[in-house]
Amino acid sequence: MNILVTGGAGYIGSHTVVALLEAGQSVIIADNLSNSKRETVEKIMDITNKEVTFYEIDVTDVEAVDIIFRNHKFEGVVHFAGLKAVGESVEKPLEYYYTNIVSTIVLAKACQKYSVNRFVFSSSATVYGDNKVPFVETMGLLPTTNPYGETKAMSERILTDIAKANPALSISILRYFNPVGAHESGLIGEAPTGIPNNLMPYCTQVAKGKLKKLRVFGNDYPTVDGTGVRDYIHVMDLAEGHVAALENLTEGVHIYNLGTGKGTSVLELVKAFEEANDIEVPYEIVNRRPGDIALCYADASKAKKELGWTAKRDLIAMCRDAWRFEKNYNKQLV
Ligand code: NAD
Ligand code: UDP
Repeated sequence: MNILVTGGAGYIGSHTVVALLEAGQSVIIADNLSNSKRETVEKIMDITNKEVTFYEIDVTDVEAVDIIFRNHKFEGVVHFAGLKAVGESVEKPLEYYYTNIVSTIVLAKACQKYSVNRFVFSSSATVYGDNKVPFVETMGLLPTTNPYGETKAMSERILTDIAKANPALSISILRYFNPVGAHESGLIGEAPTGIPNNLMPYCTQVAKGKLKKLRVFGNDYPTVDGTGVRDYIHVMDLAEGHVAALENLTEGVHIYNLGTGKGTSVLELVKAFEEANDIEVPYEIVNRRPGDIALCYADASKAKKELGWTAKRDLIAMCRDAWRFEKNYNKQLV
């Protein structure tokens, strides 16, 4: 298949492009490089020894998107491009609603115009809000605590309505849990700009000495050790989940959790990181972070049953691969 991957130079997108190429698909990337680098596209080609066509465009730009659809005949679109920082979305709601909603609409319209019927969308476990764990796809969407989460819920609704109106469409909505780690080569990985918001990149930067101490946000949650519990998933497992979703797409709209089904607390993750890499991550307990929930993990059985996909890599592999990328290749932090 010839697949358009928007946001394919980004963290999850780049790993998914590798997985798609390795599965024998052809890939065209559209990315405006607002949160990624062109050299990632070179690294994807180094890893896979395959060619990728790259367009530096904004996917909210109707004409620029139309040119790509005119130039290529696509069998499917995987839509990653968008803004993803929860805190920033509270500061800049308009930018988040505009980019994340308009991009989905522009791409869906281009698919309609050019009769491209397969669409895979990056959603998030955040749409479950503070539901009871484990989160199951049949649970209703709960209000999230920030505009970013709302853009995911809204995009899901838009895509669901589009699929209802056009029975030829096959749409897969993938709700990611907590993607971490990096490609085993260490060539591509997560390289946030500024101080990381997320736990794993914060740990790697503390381990590197770039940041002094990890701040653990609260130890009074109703969890195994009082710290927040999340379902961490290796980014290559997540990437392979997209390949499975595309290859098994059938008509209608299908929602899948992509997680491991296993919850890990902050302190458990820190311990695993220290053990996997034989390095210390100093930390201190501080107040809870506003908007955080205690527990978030998936019921991952639907993806297993319908897509034949399960996460294979364990927490140690996630920690080891995250650290390898940080240590060897994330030169901007040296
Ligand atoms: P990322 O920022 O690394 O990748 C997003 C890519 O999209 C970047 O390369 C960026 O340059 C590009 N982009 C942004 N706006 C664009 C635009 N208007 N036009 C073209 N390109 C644009 O983020 P990621 O972590 O790889 O996330 C990918 C997707 O997965 C996002 O939709 C995100 O919301 C979703 N998601 C991520 C997580 C996570 O924890 N990383 C969890 C759940 C869902
Ligand atoms: N966390 C933390 N310190 C940090 C970053 C995160 O204690 O510097 C905790 C956070 O409170 C949550 C878990 O780690 O319980 C995962 O947070 P992250 O931001 O990585 O992902 P989220 O689940 O919020 O999307």
